[in-house]
Amino acid sequence: MQLAKLEIKGFKSFADKIVINFDEGITGIVGPNGCGKSNVVDSIRWVLGEQKTSALRSEKMENIIFNGTSARGAQQMAEVSLTINNTKNILPTEYAQITITRRLYRSGESEYLLNGVVCRLKDITNLFLDTGVASNSYAIIELGMVDDLLNDKDNSRRMLFEEAAGISKFKKRKKETLKKLEDTDADLERVEDLLFEIE
Ligand code: ATP
Repeated sequence: MQLAKLEIKGFKSFADKIVINFDEGITGIVGPNGCGKSNVVDSIRWVLGEQKTSALRSEKMENIIFNGTSARGAQQMAEVSLTINNTKNILPTEYAQITITRRLYRSGESEYLLNGVVCRLKDITNLFLDTGVASNSYAIIELGMVDDLLNDKDNSRRMLFEEAAGISKFKKRKKETLKKLEDTDADLERVEDLLFEIE
């Protein structure tokens, strides 16, 4: 699996569309302080489905849309697309290349797309489960995360190993199934109450 291309438009400091092509080997992004280097990383985290605004260094999700400057007005929508080569079939899909897109409008509406087709956030998170490339995974390591791992904050070290070992997806499915069972129990109780009232 290899990052192939990142397209950003209206996200944070990027009012106009920028396209970053990732060639073979290491890609370095350099520039003066405040030019938007970290915003590039934020955009990758965001398109992968990040929901925590703190992880995006923002107070509100709306703040990730280009706010405008003295020279130009604010944008109404942020859009990021990430294209990934899946030639080794690490992602569970038949496509050799996939593009995930996330959009957020100022109205608060948002959408996710997989190869141009509207999908759910869950489809994107499921696609990247246990690949190490999820928004909160070890693919993006920032300074604070290194501290958390060293101090084992909130069991972070165990979570990292579970993701690498491919256990996370089963834990997630177990949690979802237990929730469904709980809901079904609650429904059954309600049915029993109704039956009791009728009798
Ligand atoms: P450093 O090297 O100091 O860490 P950097 O290159 O990583 O800096 P970023 O933190 O990526 O820089 O970008 C900061 C810039 O992004 C600031 O100038 C800030 O005003 C701008 N910015 C952040 N959010 C928005 C937004 N919604 N609209 C417009 N500009 C934004």
